[in-house]
Amino acid sequence: MMNESEKMVLRDRILRVQERIVRAAQAAGRDPQEITLVAATKMNDAARVRAAIENGIRVCGENRVQELLEKYEQDAYQGADLQFIGTLQTNKVKYLIGKVSLIQSVGSIRLGEAIAKEAAKRGVRQDILLEVNIGREAAKSGLPPETLEEAIAQLREYPSLCIRGLMAIPPVADETSKNFGYFSEMHQVFVDNLTKKYDNVNMDHLSMGMTNDFETAIACGATMIRVGTAIFGARPYPAATP
Ligand SMILES: *Cc1c(COP(=O)(O)O)cnc(C)c1O
Repeated sequence: MMNESEKMVLRDRILRVQERIVRAAQAAGRDPQEITLVAATKMNDAARVRAAIENGIRVCGENRVQELLEKYEQDAYQGADLQFIGTLQTNKVKYLIGKVSLIQSVGSIRLGEAIAKEAAKRGVRQDILLEVNIGREAAKSGLPPETLEEAIAQLREYPSLCIRGLMAIPPVADETSKNFGYFSEMHQVFVDNLTKKYDNVNMDHLSMGMTNDFETAIACGATMIRVGTAIFGARPYPAATP
């Protein structure tokens, strides 16, 4: 449970993040309504997630299947949209279909195919984002930008999938100026694919930007930002960001 003063702190942080979004959008000459705030809820229990929803959070993003299932059972996400943003193993896909509106972290054709099969089995259409390894980091998941076209060509063949856009987690950079380069490049990749107008592809989302760099991401055209720390405070230990 959360006490009243904890709830006030949370409400305050959410308001501040919303203000920062509005300011960043206006500075970029964009409509703040174009930007969806996804609260990265990892390591926050059901009570904290519920309190965030009571205070204006409309979309929650989880990044571990087990944690999502536990909180789902506790009705943590009622009143909000639930998405998956973390590393996903193909054998765990089945737990997510029917529960999440969007799987943001599809970083391989193989994972996309596993999602397509499971969604077909359930008779649903699953929205996904393709995760792009924009830093071309060997240790990180995601599709290198050069392979994106091929991935889209293959995955758009599945009627049980809808590719809604792209997601990226750039290399952790201390200076935001460095991420500016990655974010601009991502926007270019996004626009390139957008203009191709494939069937079964509805590229309306570009998900990038976290607590330390979401203003930069908004300046570069992000339509979704994923924010944890600025909403919930520092996590008890460093998160295994995917
Ligand atoms: C945790 C997480 C975030 C949010 O990170 P913060 O720096 O706490 O805002 C965003 N995206 C993903 C995929 C995450 O796992």
